[in-house]
Amino acid sequence: MTDRKCELATNLAKVEERISKACAAVGRARSEVTLVVVTKTYPASDVRLLAELGVRHVAENRDQDAAPKAAESADLPLTWHFVGQLQTNKVRSVVGYADFVHSVDRPRLVTSLSMAAVRAERETGCLIQVALDAEDGGRGARGGVAPDGVEELAGLLAEAPGLRPAGLMTVAPLTGPYAGRQQAAFERLVELASDLRAAHPAANMVSAGMSADLEQAVAAGATHVRVGTAVLGLRPGLG
Ligand SMILES: *Cc1c(COP(=O)(O)O)cnc(C)c1O
Repeated sequence: MTDRKCELATNLAKVEERISKACAAVGRARSEVTLVVVTKTYPASDVRLLAELGVRHVAENRDQDAAPKAAESADLPLTWHFVGQLQTNKVRSVVGYADFVHSVDRPRLVTSLSMAAVRAERETGCLIQVALDAEDGGRGARGGVAPDGVEELAGLLAEAPGLRPAGLMTVAPLTGPYAGRQQAAFERLVELASDLRAAHPAANMVSAGMSADLEQAVAAGATHVRVGTAVLGLRPGLG
């Protein structure tokens, strides 16, 4: 094994143990939680090594980086998740490789994604990104719709050709009532997700938790944790 592959294998084993322990602590089966490895800023060669090590779900947050990486990885048995803020001019590219978009947060994005998915003859699973620090009717600083906007977006997704409502996503807020209270934030997301499932039973994904707070997300009931640095290492600069 190359040094890099060893390093990734060691990190993956640590993350796997964290997820297993967090599941065991609250009596959840390990199989209820999917690890999505966030490969942003890291090269396609790392994506390939991760696939060789058994990773099946990867995520990216910028189309400029993701599109070439996904193209280079087209032979790998991977499910691609797009987790970044999404501009409508990137939508056509994103639906070409993303099986899931976690960052749907406005009606206009639903319209664009739908047109692009139909044109590409793809079906895109769409998670609504919830900003738990946004005021009613508003959007969060880092994207996401306020909780009271979830129902409308879910209805639009359910009607949109080429799309299906797949669940909810959040990033633990840095401000507002949930600042520093990740588990409470994730519990609120899980509550909103169960309301969503009442109307759209197949929308059963709850995407929450990153390297620093995956235990809190698993405890709250997340089905997908998005882990970057704990697997790949610290990213240079912002990312
Ligand atoms: C980068 C990123 C992650 C992973 O964050 P880490 O702290 O590196 O684990 C998860 N979700 C989103 C939306 C991201 O942009």
